[in-house]
Amino acid sequence: MSLEEIRSRIAAAEEKAGRAAGATKLIAVSKVQPNERVRAVLEEGHRIFGENKVQEAAGKWPAFREEFDGIELHLIGPLQTNKARQAMELAQAIHSLDRPKLASTIARIAQEIGSCPDLFVQVNTGEEEQKAGILPADADAFVAECRGLDLPVKGLMCIPPVDEEPSLHFALLGKIAARNGLAGLSMGMSSDFESAIALGATHVRVGSAIFGERDYG
Ligand SMILES: *Cc1c(COP(=O)(O)O)cnc(C)c1O
Repeated sequence: MSLEEIRSRIAAAEEKAGRAAGATKLIAVSKVQPNERVRAVLEEGHRIFGENKVQEAAGKWPAFREEFDGIELHLIGPLQTNKARQAMELAQAIHSLDRPKLASTIARIAQEIGSCPDLFVQVNTGEEEQKAGILPADADAFVAECRGLDLPVKGLMCIPPVDEEPSLHFALLGKIAARNGLAGLSMGMSSDFESAIALGATHVRVGSAIFGERDYG
C-alpha cells in the first residue's frame, strides 16, 4: 500500500470518528526495512519514523538526518537500561517505558543532559506473560512514580495480543489514560489502525502496510 493510501485511510477514520483532521500522527515503522524503501518514503515527504532497536536506529538515522531535515524518530521496542542514554540522544520519543528501573535511569540521564524525549508508558493490556509493559492494575501508580521523577510522560502505549479483538485493548488503554490525565495514545498497527483511531489513538505505528513485509531472512 502506498503512503498516500494510508494517509487517506487515516483521514477517513478521523472523520468517521468525529475527530479533528490531523489528530493522529502516523509513525512509519521502518525496522528491518532496506534503506531504499525508507528513502522512498522520506522522498515522499514523510518525516516521522519508528524503530524497534537502538542499535539499528543508530546505524540508519544519523546519515538520513544529514540528508533530510526535520526527521522525528520514535523508539517503540523494548529498551535495555544500558542503551537508555543512546536512545535518548537519538530519539524524540520513547514508547516503551515499562519498568521502574528504566524510569529512574532515564530520569538520571535527563538531569545530566538537560533534555528528555517524550515518553509513553507501555501497558501490557492483555496481561501476557511474554510481553513487556506495566500491568493495567499497576499503571496508575507507575504513572505517578514517573511524574514524581519529573519525567515527561505524554501518554500510554499498548500492543494487543495477536489473537484478541484489539478494540477491547484500545478502549482499556484509553480509559487508563483518561483517568491519569494523559492525552497521548500510541496504539494501532497495520492491521488495526483504523479501529485505534476510532478509539482515540494519537499515534499509530504502521510498518508493513507502508513498506511491505519485513524480510528477516
Ligand atoms: C513492528 C511494530 C509495529 C508495526 O507493525 P506492522 O504490523 O508492520 O504495522 C508497531 N508497533 C511495534 C511496537 C512494533 O514492534
